[in-house]
Amino acid sequence: MRCGGSFLLVLGTSVSLAMVPTRAAGAVDLTCASSATLEALVSCIRDHLPGRGSRRFVAPSFMEMSAWRSVAFAMLRGDCGFALPYSLSPLAQNRRFHDAETGRSYCVLMETADWDGDGIFDRGFGAFIVDASAERELSHQVAHPISDTGTETQAVTIFKETRSRTFLLAGAHRDASPGEGGLLGSSASWDAAHNTATMFHATHMEIMAYYGEKPWWAIQWHGMAEDTCERVDVHLSHGVDTPPAAGDKILELRAHLLAREPTWRISVAGSGLCSLDATSNVQGRLLNIAPAGGSFGALAAPPSTRRFVHIEQHAGFRDPDRWVDAVLATWP
Ligand SMILES: [Zn+2]
Repeated sequence: MRCGGSFLLVLGTSVSLAMVPTRAAGAVDLTCASSATLEALVSCIRDHLPGRGSRRFVAPSFMEMSAWRSVAFAMLRGDCGFALPYSLSPLAQNRRFHDAETGRSYCVLMETADWDGDGIFDRGFGAFIVDASAERELSHQVAHPISDTGTETQAVTIFKETRSRTFLLAGAHRDASPGEGGLLGSSASWDAAHNTATMFHATHMEIMAYYGEKPWWAIQWHGMAEDTCERVDVHLSHGVDTPPAAGDKILELRAHLLAREPTWRISVAGSGLCSLDATSNVQGRLLNIAPAGGSFGALAAPPSTRRFVHIEQHAGFRDPDRWVDAVLATWP
């Protein structure tokens, strides 16, 4: 349930390929084929993710990440159901998904490989979902499945109900392999919000490339522990610790939330009420670099172009139905 974390930029991988399971007689594909709604699909995927301390997450190779990005590229442009590149085809699946509740169609890229047949994905790739007929250029992202309880179904419901473009789910518990492969003794080595060597980050990069200079927002849904930021229920930031200026999207979102949920205590960065501003979040850092910027933080994007929205929430505030209208109003 914790949500902070140390910043770790992993450029390569020190994980031995010996950890990759070999295809055994009991090998299966975990396709979640019986899931009838997006919520059921995402819950099913979450239930097969490598959990805390499972030591099951294996960092993707450069070739696998490039292949995954090429698939994400095609999906963002409306393609779906095509054959996956050679490096991914034994490990993942790309298919159309029909949501029985709304009748709408989506494109899903997800890991499926369970070569040792233990019911858990072998690699920790996660999932990416695109709505080709979206009405909002929003990307709903879940970096901390399992640990930030309920954010998976919260985010996918909001993705669906707000007709947003993309949904992105990290492929393992943030502590799937504590201490493994970490630089500087970090225990956050496979934490998708603090590790660039993940399919989650690769997909985020591809979404950024897809939009270029066009307006869009990445909204990351997180959950914080009850004893963290006790003076507030929800905390909003752009991945920077400076207060938002008038007209900022997180002030708008707060206003729309308070109009519907007047008892919620909602803070924003710079208020002094909560310090979970996600300043070490690698997706936020990348998005906060000005287009002509150099290294991380050297040229922070001006407030008007802050596309990263980081939402921390206590357990009782993750009901998607209480967020949908405020998100619709903030991004009409
Ligand atoms: Zn989190």
